[in-house]
Amino acid sequence: MRDSEEAVYETISRALLAGQLTPGTPLRETALAEIFGISRERIRKILQRLGTNRLIELVPNRGAFVASPSLEQARDIYEARRILEGGIVGHLAPTLTAEQSAQLTAHIAQEAQALQCGDRAESVRLSAAFHMILAEATGNVFVIQQMQELVSRTSMLVAVYESASTTQCACDEHRDIFSALIRGDDAGAAKSMRTHLSLIETRLRPRAVMPSGDAVATLKNLWPSVTKGKKLT
Ligand SMILES: [Zn+2]
Repeated sequence: MRDSEEAVYETISRALLAGQLTPGTPLRETALAEIFGISRERIRKILQRLGTNRLIELVPNRGAFVASPSLEQARDIYEARRILEGGIVGHLAPTLTAEQSAQLTAHIAQEAQALQCGDRAESVRLSAAFHMILAEATGNVFVIQQMQELVSRTSMLVAVYESASTTQCACDEHRDIFSALIRGDDAGAAKSMRTHLSLIETRLRPRAVMPSGDAVATLKNLWPSVTKGKKLT
């Protein structure tokens, strides 16, 4: 039971993060329940979770829609991230542990691999995870909460605005931040982080070609390839 719900969540969130669903289009419970073969109640739970993670917009009395953030919101989100994340890496640089350093090294290697394989959804996910690893390294629950919200919003901005050939974060820029961190250079790490976030912001632009059709039809096409004949209950 739980597995099928996870698989549905995963399918919808991957499609959203890969920019495959048209911003602003509705995600109707009845249609989704039919496609995925699970109850409306469970679809509602999944939509709630996608809403909490800022991948979709939940409008009272109207339902769920693919998130459609404006470029004006984008500016505010990146500014907030520069303020917060400049502080995070500045704070971490003098105290980075060997364990945290090893975790970041492994993560950067994974990012490079996903980029090489051309897996856009995975690249977006890993790019966001790099920033979350840094936030979690502070061990501060309030910092982590703020970052979760900002990173989720950013992932949808990138999915909606950036061209499909590039990814949210350049691995080299993550390496620059990491190098400053392991040198214990707090000012350098903060500067690299702020530069990195500004560069992502400049890479945002309206996409030339938006996905066509409605979101539900796109999900219907994606679903059989994901389940690979597995019978869901
Ligand atoms: Zn990044």
